[in-house]
Amino acid sequence: MVVAEEYMKAAVYEGPYKLAIREVKKPVPGKGDVLIKTKAVGICGSDLEIFDGRFPQAIPPLIIGHEGGGIVEAVGPEITRVKPGDRVIAECLLYCGECHNCRIGRYNLCADHKVVGMIGHHGEYADYFVVPEKNVHILPHNVSWPEAALIDTLAGPVWGIEKGNIQVGSTVAVYGAGPAGLFFCKLAKLRGAQKVYLVGTRDNRLAFGEQYGADVILNTKKDKVEEFILQDTQGNGVDVVIEAAGAASAFNSGLEVLKKGGELLLYGVLGGGASPINVQPIQMNELVIKGLNASPLRYPRTIELVSSGMISVKELISHTFRLEDLPELFSSGFIGKREDNYMKGVVLFD
Ligand SMILES: [Zn+2]
Ligand SMILES: [Zn+2]
Repeated sequence: MVVAEEYMKAAVYEGPYKLAIREVKKPVPGKGDVLIKTKAVGICGSDLEIFDGRFPQAIPPLIIGHEGGGIVEAVGPEITRVKPGDRVIAECLLYCGECHNCRIGRYNLCADHKVVGMIGHHGEYADYFVVPEKNVHILPHNVSWPEAALIDTLAGPVWGIEKGNIQVGSTVAVYGAGPAGLFFCKLAKLRGAQKVYLVGTRDNRLAFGEQYGADVILNTKKDKVEEFILQDTQGNGVDVVIEAAGAASAFNSGLEVLKKGGELLLYGVLGGGASPINVQPIQMNELVIKGLNASPLRYPRTIELVSSGMISVKELISHTFRLEDLPELFSSGFIGKREDNYMKGVVLFD
């Protein structure tokens, strides 16, 4: 039987600073795969890194986009859990399921991983995309499509906060007032932190701090951050620092405000090679640094947090776009420069 090939629109990364809307073949789900009709995809800082050529693992031509979901359109052989018509969100990390780390549930450390829209697998800035069934999670009906596009952004902090040693009454300093930093503030409070300091560089972003549970808001451009936090903690420093800014300066400031024996959670991506880190306090003060990568097994719980209303995500959606907007949006630097009070953008589909 000859089946006529179907085509769809997609945003294709064709090399550094080249993103184009192209007509490409609509993917066909293989064994264990699900074909999804895209409804919403969150725009991520990693997309910009790919666009700028700073993420060499993304090999063009590649459809990018990795924070989205949609409606199951068709399923391949051996699918048991989902069916056409289901509303789903897709986890972007593709793991082998067989290596040691996968078998102990740490599939974010899979020895043989790919990432949808980033490494070795076409992404979601397209009318349709394909992922393995094990990567899809059913969305409750009260979670809207734009909200669904922020689940990945929340899932990382949900995983991170559980890895941190935050006790009832702890003090926490969160660096970075983007969506992840704000979610970390909220989660730290839910975990019982007595006082959360939010440190950032942009007032419009810091303004969300109160709503997300920050007790003290500090702007590095105006406030003496280290001095303030040390004084406010009687010279001891905070129990836990969370670096969600992706800047060496934030990391180093975090080391200064961390109490002896304290813990720093490294969530922000310090890309572009080695970073100038002040190593000595780590040794002198026996500081503990924990890296955080992705959100293994945390999607179901994250979906519940949004569905139950325990954590609200929609306030952080500052902009919505159409697929066709992406090339101009990326090449103009609109997102990188955080123009027009940009916080988080979501690409919506019909
Ligand atoms: Zn992302
Ligand atoms: Zn594996």
